This record gives sequence, C-alpha cells and structure tokens, in this order.
Amino acid sequence: MDINIFEGVKTPFYYYDKALLEQTLDAIEACTAGTPMKVHYAIKANSEPEILRIISARGFGADCVSGNEIKTAIECGFLPENIYYAGVGKTDEEILAGIDFGIGCFNIESLEEIDILAELASERGKQVTVALRVNPNIDAHTHEYITTGLKENKFGIDLRVLDDAVKKVKASEYLDLGGLHFHIGSQITISEPFKILCDRINELQAKFRLDGIDFRFFNVGGGLGIDYDNPEENPIPDFATYFDTILSSLHLKEGQEVHCELGRAIVAQCGSLISKVVLVKKGLDKNFVIIDAGMSDLIRPALYGAHHKIENISAVGKPADKVYDVVGPICESSDVFGKDELLPETQRGDLIALRSAGAYGSAMASHYNMRDLPGTLIR
Ligand SMILES: *Cc1c(COP(=O)(O)O)cnc(C)c1O
Repeated sequence: MDINIFEGVKTPFYYYDKALLEQTLDAIEACTAGTPMKVHYAIKANSEPEILRIISARGFGADCVSGNEIKTAIECGFLPENIYYAGVGKTDEEILAGIDFGIGCFNIESLEEIDILAELASERGKQVTVALRVNPNIDAHTHEYITTGLKENKFGIDLRVLDDAVKKVKASEYLDLGGLHFHIGSQITISEPFKILCDRINELQAKFRLDGIDFRFFNVGGGLGIDYDNPEENPIPDFATYFDTILSSLHLKEGQEVHCELGRAIVAQCGSLISKVVLVKKGLDKNFVIIDAGMSDLIRPALYGAHHKIENISAVGKPADKVYDVVGPICESSDVFGKDELLPETQRGDLIALRSAGAYGSAMASHYNMRDLPGTLIR
C-alpha cells in the first residue's frame, strides 16, 4: 500500500483499490462468460456509488434488500430488469416502488408475503416475476449469526410448505413463478455446502417436473468467502472452484439459467479501513495501540468476532516484534480490533490499515458516540 496517496486525507477512512476491484470482476467474467451463470452483486455489502457504477458497467445484476437499495442501484446504472429484491419484511411502500420501477424479480420469503405481493401487483395492474426463497436446511459451517440456511430461521420458506407456496403463486394471475432462490450463509470457504445445495436443487427440480412445474432459473444466493488472514497472498477469491462446483453439479435443462448473488467475494479485499494511532498506552501487562477508528466505522469484530488483518503501514519493513492490543476509542469493551497483535514498534501518528474491509464495513458504519462517518478514498 502506497501511503503517499493518503497524504492529507482525514482519518479514519475507507480506501478502495479500484484496480483490484476491476481484476476481481475480470476473474468472475473469465469464469462465467458463455455459461448459463448470471452474477448479481449483493449491494448490502457495499453501496458506495462509485463502486456500484464500476460493477454495473460490467452488466451484472443487483441483489437488493430495501427500497433505497433498489433506488440507488438504478441511479448507479443497474438495469431494473436485472434487479432482484429479497427480504423477509418488505414494506408495502418498498414493494410498490419495486413494481413501479419494473424490477426483474421479487424473492419471496413466506406464504404470507405471496398474498401481499399478489394484492399490491393487482392494485397496480401489473404482473411481477417472483422466486420462492427456499430454506434448504444446510449447515454452511460458518458463524451462527451468518448461517441462514438452517431450519428454524426467519429466512425462507420451509421445504415442507414449498408445495403450498408454489400452488399459491400459480393461482395468482399477477404472479409469474420464475424460479427458486436459496442463500445458505456467508463467508463459506469450502465447496461442500455449495455442492450439497446443488444436489438439493436437482432433487427439487426433478420433483417439481413430475408435477409439471418448470423453473426458468435457480438462484444459489451468495456466501462465497474470502481469505481474511492473507489478503496479500489471496486478493482474489477462488472463483474457478466456486463456479465450477455450481455449474458442474447442477443439472440444468435447456435454456435454464443459474443466478448467484455475491457480495463479500466481490468487494471485501479491495477495501481497507485506514486509521491513525491516537496514542500508545502502556499498561501493566499489556500495551494498547489506540486508533481513531472504532466499531462505529467497522463493526464486524464487535458483532461477529471477526478479525481483520492489522498492518502498521507507516512502519513497513520494520520487524514485527512488539505485542499490542489494537483498540478503538468507543465506550464499549467490545471495541477491539485485535488482541496480542504482533506489530512493529508503533507510535502516535502511525497509520494502521485494517485489511479486507470492503464488505460490510462502510455499509454498516454508524454515528454511535455521535462520531462522524468514516471517509472514502477510491483510487
Ligand atoms: C447477504 C446476502 C447475500 C450476499 O452475501 P455474501 O456473503 O456477501 O456473498 C446474497 N443473498 C442474500 C439473500 C443475502 O441476504
């Protein structure tokens, strides 16, 4: 990281490496060109307009989870027909906005929502395409807060009532059943859960075919993980294995598409939270590096117990032979970025980079403690 470009920029701020984002998108395109795979970007991971424009320029679709995300996606160049809208509690206002914008698909998460959407679509006199989000009951082996594909979960429709849901959609002239939608969790770094998901989809496809029901697409959701420990060695996720697993496991029929909704895998590695050391506090047993970024800027460590690689970018090349706890200034004991971190001798004024922070970083920033939101530098 060339810290000269940070000269005069007020800390803390998110720095996004545009070249790495473009290379990541190139890698995705190289794996999906000429296949039935359509990639959607999950906007909730990072909704910086400049980042959205870079992604929409590739012709990707957008996975949105609120009315404001739909509006922003359209403003930033995503075509309405490539916008899919998911969420367990879409308000009437948000649904009507989606219908009026002419978005491509509503991902439905409950039987109740089918009735609501049918009613609102009939109010507008427009037919809308829907996908039913199925809870496939797969353990993705990730953190409990970010595993969504298991039973007893607010997301998705239970397999046992899926038949009823399909019938309900088919019964409404205002709803067009496009496909089935799945999302089994996040930060998944092994192929096994995706393979199991594809097997489950094949079973469902075979079962519904017997009932004379066909789907135009299957949406396998997002969830591909990244290497938080080694951002330098693995700046781009293993897209080849991911797409190969899905494309080779699914038994697609002629003309069927498969969709995915990647968030983290697209934007995480291109972003770092850059912060300044306010002071180094010498404790009795520990030394604390207190930085000007806190959980209001990057909440993942406090919320999920996540760890972002910490680098002192003002002391590059110096031996990492000192042990520090790296903490933020916020009045919460969970406002800790790293315990017993090996760093070079660190001083007041040094710049600290929290790596792999492009996803669920700035997007989850808050004004807690009445702090300013972090800044942005895209280069
Ligand atoms: C959050 C989310 C995604 C994106 O997840 P990543 O782990 O960032 O890829 C995709 N689909 C749905 C339905 C989501 O809720």
